[in-house]
Amino acid sequence: SGKWSRAMAILKEFEEKCGTPIPKLKQVADAMTVEMHAGLASEGGSKLKMIISYVDNLPTGDEKGLFYALDLGGTNFRVLRVLLGGKESRVVKKEYEEVSIPPHLMTESSDALFDYIASALAKFVATEGEGLHASPGRQRELGFTFSFPVRQTSISSGTLIKWTKGFSIDETVGQDVVGELTKAMERVGLDMRVAALVNDTIGTLAGGRYNNPDVVAAVILGTGTNAAYVERAHAIPKWHGLLPKSGDMVINMEWGNFRSSHLPLTEYDHALDAESLNPGEQIFEKMISGMYLGEVVRRVLLKMAEEAAIFGDDVPPKLKIPFILRTPHMSAIHHDTSPDLKVVGTKLKDILEISNTSLKMRRVIVELCDIVATRGARLSAAGIVGILKKLGRDTVKDGEKQKSVVALDGGLYEHYTKFRTCMEGTLGELLGEEVFENIVIELSNDGSGIGAALLAASHSQYL
Ligand code: ADP
Ligand code: MG
Repeated sequence: SGKWSRAMAILKEFEEKCGTPIPKLKQVADAMTVEMHAGLASEGGSKLKMIISYVDNLPTGDEKGLFYALDLGGTNFRVLRVLLGGKESRVVKKEYEEVSIPPHLMTESSDALFDYIASALAKFVATEGEGLHASPGRQRELGFTFSFPVRQTSISSGTLIKWTKGFSIDETVGQDVVGELTKAMERVGLDMRVAALVNDTIGTLAGGRYNNPDVVAAVILGTGTNAAYVERAHAIPKWHGLLPKSGDMVINMEWGNFRSSHLPLTEYDHALDAESLNPGEQIFEKMISGMYLGEVVRRVLLKMAEEAAIFGDDVPPKLKIPFILRTPHMSAIHHDTSPDLKVVGTKLKDILEISNTSLKMRRVIVELCDIVATRGARLSAAGIVGILKKLGRDTVKDGEKQKSVVALDGGLYEHYTKFRTCMEGTLGELLGEEVFENIVIELSNDGSGIGAALLAASHSQYL
């Protein structure tokens, strides 16, 4: 029928615009490397902020004592305490709690958000059990993982550049987030010192390195996306401070804000961006990360409903609601292997109140998920290749077998199997077998929490 062929035309056009053939991905990887250089050369020199983290030493394994970490960066935040036992005993004990952030706190006021966080932390501290007490007379110390772009001013201070991922509280922008947290802790009567301010990429890098000395970079694929890696300090022209003894400096790329004419952007991406809380920003993130993948799918489906009446003459009202189709739903649809695509049918009914979908229709929806996930996964792989190029680890030199490990974390990477396998496969395609043999992608589950605690330990006031 006419409507079916119109729907197919919409899908086909979208698929073509989303295409990521290897030559295009290589251009994206090259552009990433170029932007990395530009961002390191001067402040504001690139869309990539290439933020100096003030972390010039990664964990060695010698870290000892009881430390806290707080991880804020998406819809949930987590509090964690670990007892570190040094080289022999490593992580002796680890306890954590996950708390969800009421959505209204994401846009209301700075004090309300930080008070909420500080009181959850205070409650958690009150549950310290046998053998997990701070030493008498010693102030508790915290590694604060704050996964938004921050202009770092020292290892334990930094001002918020902008919110991302659905947070939007104007008054926090430009404030020292450690100051905000410290004031909130005082208000709720919690005596704790923030010893290190990091973000999830730095935390994951630190946690990854603690477990594996070959870790050179960390990538987050969760609600948002970002990457960090270890740079040689003398290769950072914009750094005017003393060169650190180690010679190294960890760089927080803020790669979610990467943008290039080589990115396969479609009309749906432009509309999503224009209607977002941060138009013009985080373009790479909006094509790749968990917050947005399902939303891109929804937008294409809506177009098919409006222009090809695939769900009948009336457009299903739920389909018009932004962000109603979450990436975990999309993932469930994409992974449906039942012969009649039962899961797809159930999801459409439960989430979008669309019933009686034909098998043909369900197949189209699975295909749509595949297009969106594949594009995101392949672009992520290109980004990683960009980092490896910057590190000179995208080639094999004189048969050298130096391993390069990239620590990965985030719910998207962890749970979206087809995304993960596509990303890893694409890395192999881009690097070639011989190089890829020396690249290890390692899931660093919860690396960021432990990593922040480890960095708090190595920046303790009691050392
Ligand atoms: P955050 O990035 O907020 O710190 P996570 O790393 O846990 O948190 O990532 C959560 C994100 O991961 C969710 O927003 C969602 O987009 C994605 N995600 C979680 N579970 C799944 C799943 N089963 N399939 C696909 N994506 C998922
Ligand atoms: Mg996270």
